[in-house]
Amino acid sequence: MLLDQKSPVVAAASSADVTPRSSRSCPVCCYPESEAVWHLELVVPEAFSLQSRFSVNTCTRCGAAFHDVDPQADRNGYYESYTGSDRIHYQITAEQARLNDLTVGFLERQGLASKGLAIADVGCSFGITLMSLRQRGFNNLYAIDPDRAAIRYLMQQGIAGRTGLATDPFPELENKFDLILLRHVLEHLYSPLEAVNNVAKWLKPKGKIYIELPDLALFFESGPFPGFFFEYEHINHFSLCSLLNLMRGFSLTHYESTSEIYPCLRTLFEKSDVMQPLSFNAKDAQCVRESLSLPSKKGKVVLENIARLGTREIALWGVSKFVYRLLTHTQLRNCNIRHMVDRNLQRQGERLLGVTIESPETLRSFKGDIVICGENSAVSIENSIRSLGFKNNIVRLMGDPDAK
Ligand SMILES: [Zn+2]
Repeated sequence: MLLDQKSPVVAAASSADVTPRSSRSCPVCCYPESEAVWHLELVVPEAFSLQSRFSVNTCTRCGAAFHDVDPQADRNGYYESYTGSDRIHYQITAEQARLNDLTVGFLERQGLASKGLAIADVGCSFGITLMSLRQRGFNNLYAIDPDRAAIRYLMQQGIAGRTGLATDPFPELENKFDLILLRHVLEHLYSPLEAVNNVAKWLKPKGKIYIELPDLALFFESGPFPGFFFEYEHINHFSLCSLLNLMRGFSLTHYESTSEIYPCLRTLFEKSDVMQPLSFNAKDAQCVRESLSLPSKKGKVVLENIARLGTREIALWGVSKFVYRLLTHTQLRNCNIRHMVDRNLQRQGERLLGVTIESPETLRSFKGDIVICGENSAVSIENSIRSLGFKNNIVRLMGDPDAK
């Protein structure tokens, strides 16, 4: 369901106005009843295809936290817009590369001894993990992703694969793999349980599944501002407890949870004949509340920086998903935003909170402050703004403004 986002002032994250009914059953245990913990109205561009207004619920039976979004129809359209493109110049960011090193390091420590292990990466995108494994000598690799351009690219690199989803039935893949990777996949899916049960058929007996996803238990300490991890793509929020409830047909062989780069839970499960009991965890609701409402030490600095903008005229430089989140979860949306600019031509012309995103050249006659929102590369963005000849005062929102 698309909801009207044309109002220039959108009441964003709030705990009020929650609805007790849920339209979505628990993605972990399928129980139909859940409680709304928080109501969200995400700031997104006009004509955005994903649902941006919903509640964050927790399951009455198992406690798992999830977005009470409508069934899949509008999500498919969004993810399909990734496919069929020719992103031959796909750029891997330094952050993605470091996160991938942590994945591969974890897998190596779990004793993936034989280089001939049959490994499938489901939701592999352009195959950063598969390529790393191949560099380390693994030679029986398989790629699955809905993105046709990604699979075409990997096949050109000599890695076998096919386009598809974790929930697609592929009889030819049954009983084929020693290890299946689900890396940053389950938090996106409307039916993660269906996906896990489906890919389990592709495993050999005693086969293993590696699951990596954002760790709800680390949201509070890791977020640059309250609510950061609550956006439109991640519709399930897992703690170790809720992941164990999802993986009841498996036994956990190893896990780690680290905030390095990104708060991640890395887990390895082995297929089991025994079904584990479901347990209730009350902690997840508390994690949701805390990470949406209380600023951590890191978050306080950002909120103070935003408060310091006062009523000064500002222009936001660079309008990304990160900025949508800032506008959703902080008072930045109530600041005196006169312009939003982005050097990316695809961004220009989009409208956000009633403001049209323009080319930075628009700011040639602007006398107010230029605000850099992003955490990454803020210093190099500032240098680039100076090199373009802009003399405006520049404010970096993330981090301590006095820190060099
Ligand atoms: Zn449940």
